[in-house]
Amino acid sequence: MYNIAVIPGDGIGKEVVEATLTVLNKLPIEFNYTHLVAGDACKDDCGVALPQETIDVAKDSDAVLFGAAGETAADVIVRLRQELNTFVNLRPVKSLEPEKYGDIDFMIVRENTEDLYIGDEETTNDGAIARKRITKKASEKICDYAFKYAVDTNRSKVTAVHKANVLKVTDGLFRDTFFDIAKNYPDIEANDFYVDATAMYLITNPLDFEVIVTSNLYGDILSDEGAGLVGGLGMIPSANIGDDNGLFEPVHGSAPDIAGQGIANPVATILSACMMLDYLGESDYARQVEKVVIEVINEAKTVTPDLGGSASTQEMAEYIASKL
Ligand code: ATP
Repeated sequence: MYNIAVIPGDGIGKEVVEATLTVLNKLPIEFNYTHLVAGDACKDDCGVALPQETIDVAKDSDAVLFGAAGETAADVIVRLRQELNTFVNLRPVKSLEPEKYGDIDFMIVRENTEDLYIGDEETTNDGAIARKRITKKASEKICDYAFKYAVDTNRSKVTAVHKANVLKVTDGLFRDTFFDIAKNYPDIEANDFYVDATAMYLITNPLDFEVIVTSNLYGDILSDEGAGLVGGLGMIPSANIGDDNGLFEPVHGSAPDIAGQGIANPVATILSACMMLDYLGESDYARQVEKVVIEVINEAKTVTPDLGGSASTQEMAEYIASKL
């Protein structure tokens, strides 16, 4: 039995998490769910966006399934990643419809604990300032993770993304650390690009990428761009992994423009749950669910409007569950 902390959060987070539980409940695995609150509505109701109880239960769980946070995202998901010390955010950009999007398949390995996302901002006399923190230790850890990931998944290349020509000290440290770590992996090709060039190459040469390792902000932006390459934000899952905790969430946010309409694509969250199953050692079930999700998407019959169908979030999830 696995103890799962479930934090649906705001907007479509609630809808896609409910849909994902419909799928998980079809598997012959016993899950003990603890439903926890966090996010905008939680802040309105109880004064804090991320209650201590939510943090404590999340830390004690075997894994956390998270939906989305709205305006309070910095206080909820960014903080949760730091509290759980999930130093890596894995964001697979994989085309599930090769006929439409080609064979795009790369992994973004995003550093999850520092960079501008430490939220150290202040007002000054003439405006405002934000501090960007890059440490050697965190850079070593994330770069090493990326190379190990490449070895474990039979990839041949890791690309570091930074802006070291302008941010010479911070991004310079990240780039230099990357090439130091690369020496330990002589069989894996190591190259690097500036983040602005990467934004273009992802459009012009997406098949050239295998594993991208980058800092927090660039990883956030490039993964939304990656989503655009393979069918939109409804398609990309993510795993936040640390030494003691795993938190799984779709790359998308709370999508207030479609929240409450029952039309959000549940695939990103269902695939996040597959990453959770892998983390829990239940990889056979993860592959089974993935296979059915791919079938259902390519059948294009019972899918949500962003995939060209007219099914609701829950209808699509029930259809996936029915095929398991
Ligand atoms: P955040 O900064 O909080 O991560 P975001 O930039 O990823 O948020 P979203 O709130 O996810 O932004 O939404 C961006 C756009 O993508 C919205 O117009 C939304 O409708 C669409 N979108 C996001 N998730 C889904 C989904 N699961 N299904 C369909 N459309 C989605």
